Amino acid sequence: MAVATSGLGLLGARSALPAVGADYDVVVVGAGVAGMTAAQLLSKAGPGLKVIVLEAQDRVGGRLLTLRDKDLLPSHGVEIGAQMVHGSQAHVWDLLKQYELETRPLFDGVEPRHRFLDNSNADWDRLDALEEEAREVLASEIGPDVSYQTFIETLTADPREREMMYSEALSWTAEPDKVSARAVIKDGALWDEWHDQDFQVIGGFSKLAERMAADNSGRIQLNSQVTDIFYRPGLAGIRYKYNGVTTALTCRQLILTVPIGVLQSGGVNLEPAVPAATQRAIDSLEMGQAVVVPMMFSEPFWGADAAPGYWSDYADRISFGFPHPPGEGGNAVIGWFAGAAAQELSDLGPEAGLARVLRWLQEASGQQDIVDKLRWYHFKDWVTDPYSLGSYSFTRPGGHGQRQVLSEPVSGTLYFAGEATAPPPHYQTVHGAYLSGIRVAEQVAARLKVGKPA
Ligand SMILES: Cc1cc2nc3c(=O)[nH]c(=O)nc-3n(C[C@H](O)[C@H](O)[C@H](O)COP(=O)(O)OP(=O)(O)OC[C@H]3O[C@@H](n4cnc5c(N)ncnc54)[C@H](O)[C@@H]3O)c2cc1C
Repeated sequence: MAVATSGLGLLGARSALPAVGADYDVVVVGAGVAGMTAAQLLSKAGPGLKVIVLEAQDRVGGRLLTLRDKDLLPSHGVEIGAQMVHGSQAHVWDLLKQYELETRPLFDGVEPRHRFLDNSNADWDRLDALEEEAREVLASEIGPDVSYQTFIETLTADPREREMMYSEALSWTAEPDKVSARAVIKDGALWDEWHDQDFQVIGGFSKLAERMAADNSGRIQLNSQVTDIFYRPGLAGIRYKYNGVTTALTCRQLILTVPIGVLQSGGVNLEPAVPAATQRAIDSLEMGQAVVVPMMFSEPFWGADAAPGYWSDYADRISFGFPHPPGEGGNAVIGWFAGAAAQELSDLGPEAGLARVLRWLQEASGQQDIVDKLRWYHFKDWVTDPYSLGSYSFTRPGGHGQRQVLSEPVSGTLYFAGEATAPPPHYQTVHGAYLSGIRVAEQVAARLKVGKPA
């Protein structure tokens, strides 16, 4: 892929953008599911369009990330990014079927056994009743959108029950005092109506990313970290580091799919600043915290009755599950840490973090000698990952309903896409990212007057 440099001298400021001509019709920033979907659909809709995807990393897929390259790991692979396809209706089935990727239902119809770390069982009926009560109270409530924790404190529940309710927020990798009550309860209700079963992509989600990249062959430029964007109606300039060297190009339409954490950190400077309404929508969101630690052991010390199932505690901030079907995929356990537990591990770093994880696993399994049985592990810290700065977006108190604003173009030239811009209840997901890619491709195609993407 040739590196465009024509705009380099011109991108000192927005006013210095060239008056006519652009290197590309469309530049897409980010080669995750959203960006690759948009690029592919636009190229199909307008075969003459010049489209390029600039990706900061040396790989495609973004938050789709499967470890497969170790002798120890089975053909199933181990997901350290997106874990599963959420639901038999998830829009991403379009792609999975098109690429003939194999899947399997997670837990295969068997109800997973969930135990707390102290080996007690969760009272799901009580949790359902509390959720119902929360929905009713919220429906009758007129007032500001408070935090989920503040709202839950108004309900009659004992500490254990409250912890069970907090797990709703933690399942979004959000601390209950940071996330909007309306988002958790209202969007959660939509999710419950829509979602049925989860599925695993055999061989891993990275297979999907690779297939999408192959369909975008010649259009994706890796190692291209975008730092500055200058825009005005009909033209945008992009400054980026290509293998560390600053370069630039221009385009007529710009699609920005970087995670909201990157946007909020100022990692991509936008000039002029986006309109106040757009900025308010960006500020209404926050990235959740997650650390994922897959481990491989020399023997299945947890016993057959533990799989399929999982242990969790501390409102689901800590959980351990079995990523593969019993008897397949080796003796793997996946540790999943959210919110404050993820932050704690991130602060400790991989080595001390692993020691903490093993202590929690000893507690969960009741087995003391697991350290000697550990054959392999990986410590994936999404909190500090510079290309996402968190796991996925949640809604801050007061921010419910703001995501929609992010799907509106700025100056008819700059478009936001990615999971954070997907409508409830699909944000935070792979299929939400896919939906946002379709939405933005349709918007850009309409602006450039090419056929409707299909
Ligand atoms: C631990 C974890 C578990 C998850 N589990 C699930 C699950 O089970 N099911 C599910 O449906 N979803 C899950 N998700 C969410 C899902 O992975 C994401 O919603 C989805 O992959 C996001 O796609 P995207 O295209 O919006 O963003 P991304 O995949 O993040 O793509 C954005 C791209 O932009 C690039 N980028 C960043 N900064 C720059 C820059 N300055 N210049 C150029 N490029 C840049 C990044 O490198 C990245 O490739 C999970 C996510 C995580 C982290």
